[in-house]
Amino acid sequence: MRAAVRDAGLRATPSRIAVLHLLRGAEAPVSHGDVVGKLASQAWDPATIYRNLTDLSDVGLARRTDVGDHVWRFEAITGSHQAGAHPHFVCTECGTVACLPDLEYVMTRAKAPRAIRQKRVEIQVRGRCDACM
Ligand SMILES: [Zn+2]
Ligand SMILES: [Zn+2]
Repeated sequence: MRAAVRDAGLRATPSRIAVLHLLRGAEAPVSHGDVVGKLASQAWDPATIYRNLTDLSDVGLARRTDVGDHVWRFEAITGSHQAGAHPHFVCTECGTVACLPDLEYVMTRAKAPRAIRQKRVEIQVRGRCDACM
């Protein structure tokens, strides 16, 4: 984790490591508020955590996503999130966000806009989650 942060050109501060660790362990994108809540025992100031999230996004270790509620959520770009752009399922009732597999078929179409091939898009699937059905 430390090496990943250093290789990306950032100083491996304890809060950055903790934020990246949390993002990599999360199954769905998390908001700044979620991260602050989960790291509350560490007494880091919310502004520091926000900077950590944006720094990690700027160097490509994480990505920012807006599922349509104008809240930035962050997720790590590794493992199950390696490909970067993948659709998110958003529950219209409770707001739960879940990651869906990559839409490789759409991504590889020759006529798809360049932004899709470069994975600079937000893909949202809206409906009711299992708990709200
Ligand atoms: Zn729901
Ligand atoms: Zn995701």
